[in-house]
Amino acid sequence: DDRRDPGPPPARPEITALPDYSSARAGSVPITIRASSNEAPFGPGALVVDAVTERLRSAHRYPELGAVTLTRAIAEQLGLDPDQVVAADGSLSLLNYLLISHCRPGSTVVHPWRSYEAYPICIRTAHAEPRAVANLPDGSHDLAAMAAAIGPDTAAVILCSPNNPTGAGLSHDAVAAFLAEVPPSVLVVLDQAYVDFVTDPQAVRGLELLPAHPNLVLLRTLSKAYGLAGLRIGHLLAHPQLCRAVRKIVPPFAVSALAETAALAALVDLPHRDRIVTAVIDQRGPVTELLRRHGLPVVPSEANFVWLPLGDRAAEFGARCADAGLGTRVFDGEGVRISLGEPDLPTRLSSIVSGLPEVS
Ligand code: PMP
Repeated sequence: DDRRDPGPPPARPEITALPDYSSARAGSVPITIRASSNEAPFGPGALVVDAVTERLRSAHRYPELGAVTLTRAIAEQLGLDPDQVVAADGSLSLLNYLLISHCRPGSTVVHPWRSYEAYPICIRTAHAEPRAVANLPDGSHDLAAMAAAIGPDTAAVILCSPNNPTGAGLSHDAVAAFLAEVPPSVLVVLDQAYVDFVTDPQAVRGLELLPAHPNLVLLRTLSKAYGLAGLRIGHLLAHPQLCRAVRKIVPPFAVSALAETAALAALVDLPHRDRIVTAVIDQRGPVTELLRRHGLPVVPSEANFVWLPLGDRAAEFGARCADAGLGTRVFDGEGVRISLGEPDLPTRLSSIVSGLPEVS
């Protein structure tokens, strides 16, 4: 019998061609400061830990179908109606559900680049074609070029503010002007994973634009400012009709019982969120100044990380950090992203850059 093992049935060619997700690289010494994944610098508060521990005792019970109580709590906090909210297993999953429910084969989705690496993957997963538009040199989106990239087949445009990994934010006026230009048949997805760290009073807030723009979708998460990345909770805010469509394909128990319980407690324990946000914002200016003083380029950030557009020197600086036990996220040939908030970060960075000449 010369039949060869044919292996498993192949995935769609455009799926096979996708890159694998990457994460921090191992260095020569153990990483003692983890600044590679934009996580909160400390764990959940006692309210969350107690509530989750209690809920664990009834882990044999399914969570509430459709996370109705959590959806209501989020809506109440934001001053929205619960039918404008969809909760699920992280904002990335919600982007997947949104694109799958709205794209057709042959659709295009315009997205910024460099931005969150998941965008082109989600777009391909939804049988659509990514149309990447390069950011401006300051790391912010080129909204004019993004508007120009919209064609008759465009199903959605993704904006990310503050943008991962550059940290640049969009202003309210810029997004409002963009929305006025985009045809109402095209979704405008505003990814707000880092919105809680924004301090610029001119920055887009998102919620204020929802009433006039039924094609606007906001994506938010409890992974960053609420410190619950490990539990996977995100929410989508949009027109009720759009939410109804997305809810049809969100898996019935997408938010696990522990995640749902933790989220409800975290939404009550706002002082804990504020401690995380303060730890980040307190470091943002000083860390930016420290790095610049030693001749390193740093883009002004509105997020819980800073971006160093080092180009060809990115890998070398990332390795220098790793050798000092500081885990960063290196984008080869582009730059290095360093998450903020760990109490020891400024001191460690200080000793890492101390070998570099100071510039006046
Ligand atoms: N959007 C952006 C811009 C992100 O950086 C991330 C996480 N790195 C996500 C979405 C995903 O967040 P979540 O944990 O809610 O899936």
